[in-house]
Amino acid sequence: MNTFETDAKYVAHTYARFPVEIVGGKGSLLYDRDGKAYIDLGSGIAVNTFGVCDDAWISAVTEQLGKFQHTSNLYYAEPCARLAEALCKRTGLQKVFFSNSGAEANECAIKAARAYGAKTKGEDTYTIVTLNNSFHGRTLTTLAATGQEVFHAQFRPLTEGFVHIDPTEDALLAALDTHKVAAVMVEIVRGEGGVLPLEPAFVDALVREAKKRDILLICDEVQCGNGRSGKLYAYMHYGFTPDIVTTAKGLGGGLPLGATLLGDKVADIFTPGMNGSTFGGNPVASAGALNILSRIDEDLLASVRRKSEFVFDALENAKGIESVAGLGLMLGVKPVKPAKEVVSRCIERGVLALTAKDKVRLLPALNIPDDLLEKAVNIIKEVCAEGIE
Ligand SMILES: *Cc1c(COP(=O)(O)O)cnc(C)c1O
Repeated sequence: MNTFETDAKYVAHTYARFPVEIVGGKGSLLYDRDGKAYIDLGSGIAVNTFGVCDDAWISAVTEQLGKFQHTSNLYYAEPCARLAEALCKRTGLQKVFFSNSGAEANECAIKAARAYGAKTKGEDTYTIVTLNNSFHGRTLTTLAATGQEVFHAQFRPLTEGFVHIDPTEDALLAALDTHKVAAVMVEIVRGEGGVLPLEPAFVDALVREAKKRDILLICDEVQCGNGRSGKLYAYMHYGFTPDIVTTAKGLGGGLPLGATLLGDKVADIFTPGMNGSTFGGNPVASAGALNILSRIDEDLLASVRRKSEFVFDALENAKGIESVAGLGLMLGVKPVKPAKEVVSRCIERGVLALTAKDKVRLLPALNIPDDLLEKAVNIIKEVCAEGIE
C-alpha cells in the first residue's frame, strides 16, 4: 500500500486531507513524492515560522538533542528558563507556564482565570466570555470556549461556564452585567473563524471594562502570535497589555510547544501541584523556540508588514475577489467562488493555501522570499479570476 492507502486504512479519519504527500523541502518550497514543487502559503498552519529545513533552527534543536532531550519538570533545565525570560522581557508579562499545544495553553489560562475569579470574588465567579466564530482548541473545555456550534455537536455535555458573544460593546456589557465573569478571552484576529481582526473600538471597550470590573483579559495568540501579525503579538497593534497571553503554533517553529504568559494579576496564582505537564517546556522544543523568538526582531516584523501590503495591493479589488482581510501574514481572501475550490485549483498549480470558513487563508512562513510570494499570489489571482465575468 502507498501512504494514501495506509493512512486511510490505519489513521483515524479526523482529517479531510488534500491528496498531497510531502516528502521534503527547503524554506517555503515543499516537494511531493512525484517531485512536484509547491509554494507553501500555509506553513503547517502557522507553525513553520521560518519554513522547513531552516538551518539556524535545526542547529539550535540538534545542539540541544546532543545534550539531553528531556528531563521532566522535576529538575531545572536552561532552555525552558531562558525561553520564559525572553517571553516575559518582550511582552512585560511576568511568568510562563509551558505545555505542548494551543489547547493546553488555553486550558491553563482558563484554570488561572477560574482560580483568580474564586480568589477575588468567590467561587461562583467562573464564567469566561468568548466570541462567536472563535476557535480555542479541541479538548472538551477549549471546545466549550470555542464559539462555533459546529464543533460542539456530538460532544455534549461540554464544560460549563462559557458565554459566547458577538464582538460589540453592547453584547460585551450585556454579558458582563448578566454573568459572574472571571475573564474575557479573545483572538485579536480570529483565525479558523474567517481571519477576522477585532475592531479597535471593541478592544478599547474590552480593556476599559476589564480594568473597571477587575476581569481578566486573555488573548489567545496561538495563531496570530509570534510575529505573524507584523508585531510580536497581535495585541501589540492595539496598545494594551493583556492579563494572560496564550500561544503555541509558530512559537516552536515546528516542534510542539504551548505557552501561557501570566501578567501581574495572575503571576502567582499557581502554586506547586495546581498545574503540570510531562513534556511542557521540553528542552529541545524550547531551544528551538529561543532561536525562533530571537529572530523575530524589528527587521523581520517590518518585512512581514511589507509583504502583507504587497498581498493586499495585489489581491484587493482583483477580479473574482470580494475582499482581503487580516493582519501581517495572516490573511483571508474572500473569493467569489467557493474557497475550497480555489484551494484545490491552487494545489494543482503548485500553491498550498488553507481555508477559513468562506475564505482562502494565507499563513506563509514569515521569511517567505518575495519572488515566491509574488508567484504564489499571481496564481491565486488567476485561479480566483478564472471563469468570472
Ligand atoms: C490552532 C489554535 C488553537 C489550538 O491549538 P492546538 O495546538 O491545535 O491545540 C487554539 N487557538 C487558536 C486561536 C488556534 O488557532
